[in-house]
Amino acid sequence: MLFADISLINADYELEEHRWVGTKGCLIDYIGACAPENAADYGEVYDGAGRLLLPGFYNAHAHAPMTILRGYGEGLPLHRWLNERIWPFEAKMTPQDNRWGTALACAEMLRFGIVGFTDMYYASAERLKVVAQAGMKMNSCEGLIAFEEMPYTEHPLYGLNKELMEEFHGTCDGRLLVDFNIHAEYTSNPLVVEGVAQAAKDAGVRIHLHASETKSETEECKQRHDGMTPVQYFDSLGVFENPTTAAHCVWLEDDDYAILRDRGVSVAHCPVSNMKLGSGLAPVHRMIAEGINVALGTDGCSSNNNHDIMQDMYVMALSAGGLTLDPTAITAKQVLHAATRAGAISQGRTDCGSVQEGMRADICVLDITGPSWTPMNDAVSNVVFAGHGSDVVLTMVDGAVCYRDGDWPGIDVERAKAECATAVERIKSEL
Ligand SMILES: [Zn+2]
Repeated sequence: MLFADISLINADYELEEHRWVGTKGCLIDYIGACAPENAADYGEVYDGAGRLLLPGFYNAHAHAPMTILRGYGEGLPLHRWLNERIWPFEAKMTPQDNRWGTALACAEMLRFGIVGFTDMYYASAERLKVVAQAGMKMNSCEGLIAFEEMPYTEHPLYGLNKELMEEFHGTCDGRLLVDFNIHAEYTSNPLVVEGVAQAAKDAGVRIHLHASETKSETEECKQRHDGMTPVQYFDSLGVFENPTTAAHCVWLEDDDYAILRDRGVSVAHCPVSNMKLGSGLAPVHRMIAEGINVALGTDGCSSNNNHDIMQDMYVMALSAGGLTLDPTAITAKQVLHAATRAGAISQGRTDCGSVQEGMRADICVLDITGPSWTPMNDAVSNVVFAGHGSDVVLTMVDGAVCYRDGDWPGIDVERAKAECATAVERIKSEL
């Protein structure tokens, strides 16, 4: 595709106007102030008038099938929400429910400009197949919960993770990656955590986990493990010798920052979910200042309740000022970086997440003809503070259009909506 005479946000998060952007295969092949000489080779010419081209968004922490739990379990703190509402509901979900919940999530994410996401849930094979078809990128992990102390090699996930690796890891030209999971400190034990850390090292895969989401989780971890916070606990067991994404990190203590930075751990900041469940607000301004890779996540649809990551950007930007009483605590550019390039890096996708020649063609295009986009004193500020996910009109992943003007070539959205609605009624009747 050749985007003609379009405005774009470049790799330094600056506005460039009247640009021509060509994609060939999976790459951004050309960016210039005029049409390339071989313009005809690029196929469709996309009229860039009234459009803003951005790097596609990366959602660094999600539970895609939880779309079918949207609005279920409202008004509870994390541990009651999990024990009383979420886990009993999830126990009734079939692989088919996971499949359609994921399809609905992919439709929603693409519609809001998300090109890739890091997902933690069950029925991994179903989720991976849906994402392959939808055309998105996913780092997928099968949720590991191990209350009983046992070696990882005896846990059912040991064999399953091997099978998932063989069938899916690196497929679809690298769009699909399999990560390993430790749900959290409070849902596992040191023996299994150590085993997962070693297995990830042997397989060369990434780890995705929850850490320090609530104050009580952090305090109880310290009581159980000689004063170690969840970050210190995971580090002591070798987890961070693997590239890791740690979701939340709301209740960090002073020593945790250097561990996260020195081990290269990415933090998936989920401000909407953290505030909705009353967990707190992560000190991302300090994480960023200390050199930690901070990405942005929506979390699942029972604690957000949507995948419009532009809302999460808005909340991330505002809440940092609210927490610090300093409007310069983080900048709009840092927020946009968290939602794009930092997310790609958190997934190990170093050739993704910014609009440059030679990078993967992961792009979203916004309609900026609406009243809230004028004037354009500061384009990135407009994206973060004035824009909405509904301004997205096109989402491209690896050079393929996966969403455009209300149409998803790889997803039967009407069927997904109907199947999810049916599943919810069935599960509720069984509870
Ligand atoms: Zn989560």
